Amino acid sequence: MNWAGGMIIVLKSGATQADLDAVVARVEEMGLKAHVSRGEFRTIVGAIGDEARLRPESVAVLAGVESVMPIMKPYKLASRDFNAEDTVITVGHRRIGGKHLAVIAGPCSVESAEQTRTVAQRIARAGAGLLRGGAFKPRTSPYSFQGLGEEGLKILRDVGGETGLPVVTEVMDVRHVDLVAKYADVLQVGARNMQNFALLTEVGHTEKPVLLKRGPAATVEELLMSAEYILSEGNRQVMVCERGVRGVERSTRYTLDLAAVPNIQGVSHLPVVVDPSHATGRHDLVAPMALAAVAAGAQGILVEVHPDPEKALSDGPQQLTPDAFEAMMKELVPIARAVGRTLETDAKL
Ligand code: PEP
Ligand code: MN
Repeated sequence: MNWAGGMIIVLKSGATQADLDAVVARVEEMGLKAHVSRGEFRTIVGAIGDEARLRPESVAVLAGVESVMPIMKPYKLASRDFNAEDTVITVGHRRIGGKHLAVIAGPCSVESAEQTRTVAQRIARAGAGLLRGGAFKPRTSPYSFQGLGEEGLKILRDVGGETGLPVVTEVMDVRHVDLVAKYADVLQVGARNMQNFALLTEVGHTEKPVLLKRGPAATVEELLMSAEYILSEGNRQVMVCERGVRGVERSTRYTLDLAAVPNIQGVSHLPVVVDPSHATGRHDLVAPMALAAVAAGAQGILVEVHPDPEKALSDGPQQLTPDAFEAMMKELVPIARAVGRTLETDAKL
């Protein structure tokens, strides 16, 4: 059998702490890393590392061990084999994952305190649960607006505090991880950085939840391998985000791969977020794709909203006005209910 660098050790329901300690010790003796996952009904230990070091038979004989199975997928901690139950991430008083649906909204870029505050107040009332906004912007052109940097982070932090919305913002550079983590509730790793392994490792060392975007040319498996980088550093709070991949269509910015939602959920326990704004690049397509994403089972939606999209310093064509966002939310609520999701919001809808 090909053990592919990982095995799952399932403990008996009556296993004691001493049994667990003995399993962990045996795994570590083999030179592997032990990752303990306590589910509602049973505890499992993921043993991950060099394939040549795996000795399943030496663990199977220990007291308290029910079974030992290979993890066939190249990603281990991200796989459903490792964790059968959905991961639910708590951010402030919001939850994302499982049956919990969070709407993350806000401007593409933080441009000013006033702009950010106007959007935050409107989206909070309309049912958003978290505020997004870029302070460090990955722009195709070096001559385009690059973001306000730390000043933008401070604005986000203040406005998030005033409106009761935890904040999500992108960290682009390993040198900024500590700085961004000081202000943000969720660290976003952008599509262009999905395979920046140094950055993934660094955010894996923080205790902040991470929103990891799919690269425009990345497969689902590559996305989950990138999630694995973060998880393997000890940060278990990772959500992945479908934001469109490069296809043949030119009238939209990217092609939204909505099948990725149930596709990922079938093989992984991580929450799945959908970003219809960057996927389509067109404000007229954002609401229909957001609704479809919720119907498909997404646990988060990420939508760009600007008080005056025509004057936006980045991504104007895809940003919704606050009125359009509110109209979208009115349609989204009954769909969420129909598919058994609870919307994470303080708004009375
Ligand atoms: C963003 O969400 O601000 C962003 C730049 O998105 P992406 O990395 O998906 O292009
Ligand atoms: Mn944007």
